Amino acid sequence: MYPWLTTTFQQLAKRKHTNKLHHALLLQGSLGIGKTEFAKEFASYVLCAKSSPDHACGECQSCLLQRAGSHPDFHEVLSEKQIGVDQIRDAIKKLSGSAQLSGAKVLIIYAAHTMTEASANALLKTLEEPTSNTFLLLVTDKAERLLPTIISRCERILMPPPSLSQTQSWLLTQWQDPVDEEFVQLYAHAPLILLDELQQEQGVSYEAFKQGLQQLMTQQINPSKLAADWQEQVEKLLSWLQFWLHQTVKKRASLSPQLWQLHQEAIKAVKRVRNPGVNKVLVLNQLLSDISLIKNQ
Ligand SMILES: [Zn+2]
Repeated sequence: MYPWLTTTFQQLAKRKHTNKLHHALLLQGSLGIGKTEFAKEFASYVLCAKSSPDHACGECQSCLLQRAGSHPDFHEVLSEKQIGVDQIRDAIKKLSGSAQLSGAKVLIIYAAHTMTEASANALLKTLEEPTSNTFLLLVTDKAERLLPTIISRCERILMPPPSLSQTQSWLLTQWQDPVDEEFVQLYAHAPLILLDELQQEQGVSYEAFKQGLQQLMTQQINPSKLAADWQEQVEKLLSWLQFWLHQTVKKRASLSPQLWQLHQEAIKAVKRVRNPGVNKVLVLNQLLSDISLIKNQ
C-alpha cells in the first residue's frame, strides 16, 4: 500500500474486521494518488477468508483467486468515457445471487462520476438495499459530478494526497536516476502521475520544457515555433507554464506586476483550453509570446 494511504486503509480494515463497515464507500481524492490500487487492495481484504485486523492473509482460496484475477465474487465497472446503464445493470445482476465462495461480494466502480444519469439511477436501489455481505466501492476524483442521491447513500472516504516529503521518499524507491527538484514539486501531490511522466519516452520532458523557455526568453526561438513544437501536449504544457510562472514569481525578491499578470494569464489559459472548440495552440502561442517579453523589461 502507498505510505500516504496506509492509515486510511487500516482504519477501514479495522471496521471491516469488527463488522462496522458501511456497505457503500465513496473513495474520493485527487488524480494520481493511487485510488485504483487502494480500491483493489481493499476489495481483496474484504474478500479474504482469514484476514487479520489490517491485511489480507494472501494465502486463502479467496486471496489466491483474487491474485489470479479470477475471483467469482469480485466485479468491476470501468469505462473509457461514460458508464452506461447496461454496464450497471450487468453488475447488479452479478451481485444478486449469493456469494460463490461463501464470503463477501465486492463491486468497484472506477471513475464513478462518469455514470450517466440513467446509470446512477439504476444503481440507487442497490446502494440502498444491497444483498447481504455486499460491498460497493465507488472511486472518483470528481465527486461534484455525482448525483446527490448517490453521494447521500454512500459513506465518503476522503483519500489524502501525500506531502512533498512522502512523495520524495516514495520516489526514491521507484526511480533510480536523479530528478529535477522543481519537477518533483510540480507533481508533489500526484506521485503516480510524476512516475508516469518520468517513464514516458515520448513527448516533451521537463528538461526540454525548461530549455525551450530559456531559448524563448533569450530570443533564440520564436513563440510560434515553440508552440508548434509543443502542440501535441498543450494542456500539460500550459499547466507546467502555470507552475513555472508561480515558482518564478515566488523566487523574485520583490513583486513583479508583469510576472504576476502572466501567472494569472496562465491560470486562465489552463481553464480555457478545457472548453471544446478552442484553438489550443493559439492559446499557448499567446502565452508564450507574452513570456518571451519578460527579459525585455
Ligand atoms: Zn486471504
